[in-house]
Parts: sequence; structure tokens; C-alpha cells
Amino acid sequence: MKRRIMLDMDGVLCNLDWQVKNFHAIKDNGKCDWKLMDKIGPQFWSNMKWNEEGHKLYNALLELVKENPDLELGIAYAIFLHNGKKGKREWIAANCPEIQMQNIEIINKGIDKWHFLQESDILIDDNKDNVDLHVKAHPDSRGIVFTDSKSALVRLDMILADDREFDKLCEDHDKMLENY
Ligand SMILES: [Mg+2]
Repeated sequence: MKRRIMLDMDGVLCNLDWQVKNFHAIKDNGKCDWKLMDKIGPQFWSNMKWNEEGHKLYNALLELVKENPDLELGIAYAIFLHNGKKGKREWIAANCPEIQMQNIEIINKGIDKWHFLQESDILIDDNKDNVDLHVKAHPDSRGIVFTDSKSALVRLDMILADDREFDKLCEDHDKMLENY
């Protein structure tokens, strides 16, 4: 089964928390200061550090897609600010040049991510709501709530093993029909 593995950015690939602290972009109520982030401009997003666990995951996935022509890597990120969209695009160009343009989905709000994803996409996202919405909307889709590289890869391995089993069943079924 052909599938895209779609990666979230903040909290998966990128370390948003570090950057928020670095620029003191936090309000007294503990929420992100989006106005300040917007004022800093695209560099707030384009200069973000890798999330260490996300970087490990990304490198492992690059190897996986090399070995498996049925898989493609993509990114689905949500940001409502124009500067954020620009900065994130720059980050991807600098850090993930392996990802093809058609596999990059830009969304205003995380909860709308599922609208932009394909039926068979595997979404890896640190936000459980985004994953749940995608999986509920598309019966063949799969989702992984990201916490760390190792558990995401174990979960992915299980999904791909299921796919192989399903493909094998379909093949056996086709053969059975041929001989019928
Ligand atoms: Mg996130």
C-alpha cells in the first residue's frame, strides 16, 4: 500500500518551546505571545532548532523511505501568521531538502489538518486531537501521537506490518479468483 508519512513541525521536527524561551515570547498567562513572534518576523520560525527526538526520527525515516518505494515523506504544519508560513518554508528548505513540494501541506489551524491530508496518510503529530480527527475522517489512514523517536518508529513498524499482511491477503484472494 502506498503511503505518505506526514510529519508535524512544532513539537515533532522543531523545538518551538526553546525558541519561545529564547525570544521571551511568552505572556504573563503562560501562553505564546504571537504578536511578538510576528514582529520578530520569519526568522523566529526559520532559525528554530531541531527537536532532538524529531531529528532522530527524521533521519530514521529517510533511511526507511530509501528502502521502501511505497513510502514518501511529507510535512503538514499549521500556522496562521504569514511570517510563520514564510519562516517555516525556509526552515524546511534548509533542513529537509529531501521532501518534495507536493508533500508539504500548509494549514492555518491544526484542527483542520485532516482536511488537507490524503486518505492513506500516516500523520505523526504531537497533538492527539489532530491525529484523532485525521484517523476518524479517513478509514484507511493511520496516526501516531509523537512523544519520542523510538516509540514512533515501533508504532510505524506495526502499521507497515499490518499493511504488508493486508497486501498479502489481497494477493492471495486475487490468485484464488484466478484459479476459480
Ligand atoms: Mg505540534
